[in-house]
Amino acid sequence: MIRLNNIHKSFGKVKVLNGIHLTVEKGDVVVILGPSGSGKTTLLRCINYLERPGEGEVTIGDFTVNCKHPGKQDILKLRRKTAMVFQHYNLFKHKTVLENVMEGLVTARKVPKDEARARSLEVLDKVGLSGKINDYPSQLSGGQQQRVGIARALALNPEVILFDEPTSALDPELVGEVLSVIRKIAKEGVTMIVVTHEMSFAREVSNHVVFMDGGVIVEEGKPEQIFSQPKEERTKQFLKRIT
Ligand code: ADP
Repeated sequence: MIRLNNIHKSFGKVKVLNGIHLTVEKGDVVVILGPSGSGKTTLLRCINYLERPGEGEVTIGDFTVNCKHPGKQDILKLRRKTAMVFQHYNLFKHKTVLENVMEGLVTARKVPKDEARARSLEVLDKVGLSGKINDYPSQLSGGQQQRVGIARALALNPEVILFDEPTSALDPELVGEVLSVIRKIAKEGVTMIVVTHEMSFAREVSNHVVFMDGGVIVEEGKPEQIFSQPKEERTKQFLKRIT
């Protein structure tokens, strides 16, 4: 359902992605692991053209964008098939929790307000925030703010949710509540691609692990294989350092 074909990306003279091929099936929970600077976030951002690849094709469902000639409408269409959960939540500070979740539905998707409100209340319930809908982000803990970020993504009913290190800005005691929400929606069959350093979460929740280093996919496979019997030396060294 998602295919990345030969994605390259440079920032100036620095080559950050060097020919990425990746296939993701519907319902997959893909975890991307790798050392800092290996290109994980850039890859995630290329999937919805928050970064424009220098070369390659992104396919989501039946729709392909070739980076050589992407029209503005093509990029919008691709973005509509995805939603992103950011490391630093990126909530609107002057909007309430409910307004934050409704915003994308009403403004970008042109969903009627009543319908957007109903959908937003439903997903806020799913992330355990029904009691906070009229609060502002500053009144919430980091874990609660990130759960708003997840609700906002879910509300859009995207074909894939892209998580960019969703727990790395959180105090350790708040990580668990966010991971359990992600675990819950993964079980419901939502397709997701998650950049994370949470190894036990990766092992337990994903069905496809991708290990990146130096802008390439070094190794990928089922979590049991990657964690227990990595084939590549770089994967072994990384796992040894981090676990
Ligand atoms: P990771 O997520 O694996 O830590 P990133 O994708 O964030 O890696 O970054 C890969 C490399 O690209 C790093 O060297 C980083 O400094 C560089 N980089 C990322 N974004 C930009 C940018 N907007 N401009 C210049 N360099 C960037």
